[in-house]
Amino acid sequence: MKKQQVVIFGGGTAGWMAANAMASKWSKEKIDITLIESSEIGIIGVGEGSTPRLKQFFDTLGIAESEWMPRCNASYKNGISFIDWSHKPGFESYFHPFISYTDRKTQSAFFYNSFARRKGFDVHAHPNRYFLTAYLSEKKLGPIPDYNFPFEVDYGYHFDSHLLGNFLREAAIKRGVRHIDARVTQVKQHENGDIAGLELETSAYVNGDFFVDCSGFRGELIQNTLKVPFISFDNNLFNDAAVVLPTPAQEQLNSQTLSTALKAGWAWNIPLQNRTGNGYVYSSSFCDKDQAEKELRTHLGLLDSEEEARHLRLKVGRVAHHWYRNCVAIGLSQGFIEPLEATALNLVANTIDDFIHSYEAGEFSNKHQAAFNQRVNSGFETIRDYIVAHYILNSRSDTDYWRANGENKNISESLKAILHCWYSGLNLGQEIEKQKIPTSYTAVSWYCLFSGYGIYPEGQQLQAATADVKRFNLADIDDFIKRCSANFKPHNELLEELTAPH
Ligand SMILES: Cc1cc2nc3c(=O)[nH]c(=O)nc-3n(C[C@H](O)[C@H](O)[C@H](O)COP(=O)(O)OP(=O)(O)OC[C@H]3O[C@@H](n4cnc5c(N)ncnc54)[C@H](O)[C@@H]3O)c2cc1C
Repeated sequence: MKKQQVVIFGGGTAGWMAANAMASKWSKEKIDITLIESSEIGIIGVGEGSTPRLKQFFDTLGIAESEWMPRCNASYKNGISFIDWSHKPGFESYFHPFISYTDRKTQSAFFYNSFARRKGFDVHAHPNRYFLTAYLSEKKLGPIPDYNFPFEVDYGYHFDSHLLGNFLREAAIKRGVRHIDARVTQVKQHENGDIAGLELETSAYVNGDFFVDCSGFRGELIQNTLKVPFISFDNNLFNDAAVVLPTPAQEQLNSQTLSTALKAGWAWNIPLQNRTGNGYVYSSSFCDKDQAEKELRTHLGLLDSEEEARHLRLKVGRVAHHWYRNCVAIGLSQGFIEPLEATALNLVANTIDDFIHSYEAGEFSNKHQAAFNQRVNSGFETIRDYIVAHYILNSRSDTDYWRANGENKNISESLKAILHCWYSGLNLGQEIEKQKIPTSYTAVSWYCLFSGYGIYPEGQQLQAATADVKRFNLADIDDFIKRCSANFKPHNELLEELTAPH
């Protein structure tokens, strides 16, 4: 096989993640990788929370936390607290946990009690009490246990996206990726429509056999050049704008993201070592820029602050085909589901791995393109449905935005079946299995969402639980989780260890 030239267009987190993964999998004898980015255009510079998928990504590259985390002012993340999304008494907030091995012992009690409560028995069925990472987050403990506690905990990270980009750039260049800092001014196509090469502002021309579009929301190759249609999710995800405003670092760093519902969207709070990232993701149909900024400032207690806010527009949806002709789109160019569960880099990592595998398996041809596109699309749709569920299940009625979300009927058949299953007291695990929903959200996540919002019979519909229904002693669960947590250090201490000399 002739040596292949792969050209990555864009050096945001997606571009550099792709460059590292490809350079680590493909030998330099077979494939040359070039990444072109424009430091003048820059990167989007948000996207600072991850799922455990980012840990897997770094582990596969063999990059240790002590190498990258201090350089990116990173912190650990046990999960996300959702605050004020529901106004049901007792369910005003809940925690969506990353899972730990020890949850196996407690989650059966949660499933059982949750099931009993759906049947109308008054048992404790709020998720926070059943998951180790909920407790760790409440106590600001990190997710890595002492060596004598051999049970793993899944966790994600918070990080500065500019610094992460710098780190990944260095790592990719060390792996042999050629880096060009210049604006692409024109895309040339072959007669058959394939991409031939990129013309740069310097008049240089970079040709390639295969192109990776990581140009961000612009989608320069996949959307603008190849005209792959964009499928908007705006009829069921209303948020299309964000305003961003940092605050000083927390003294004792949270080990979780906070997501607080506001009048026309929600605000994130992401603890980094040198600052706290904050932003308000909202719908411009219900709130203008100035109102959003004022509401965020009020929420943060920053009404009088001189700190300038950054405003962003979001393009929510996905392209119809992520791999088309000799181009694959990765990152914001392929689509974006709003950042509520911090899933974008999850999708980026999945797309990269799947593409590398599919391209190789087809001997560097488009043989497996259709199956790849189908898998990536279904990854997008299932995450979208989980995010949509946060909005339609909300029990707020204080603003037009929340009422419109609650009344929205534009939902997929898959989500309809999940909702029906929950409301009818049927087995949710079986429904998820039946639908073959890909791994992003398991039954635990769905149970936490429904239960965390308090989607249960209420008031008169609830009856006292009889002794045979009360199968689990909550004090035992509390005690078990508390004893497990004794093996975990304060978050700050864990972060300090990353920089301590070994
Ligand atoms: C408000 C908000 C919050 C988010 N929160 C999260 C989160 O918590 N977790 C998460 O996982 N994700 C989050 N995301 C998504 C995350 O920001 C992105 O997935 C991630 O940063 C990757 O972006 P990217 O690399 O695709 O695009 P970008 O960062 O925009 O990079 C695009 C690259 O293309 C280059 N480029 C463009 N045009 C040209 C040209 N003509 N010539 C040369 N170079 C060019 C740019 O210079 C840049 O290098 C969030 C996004 C938004 C908008």
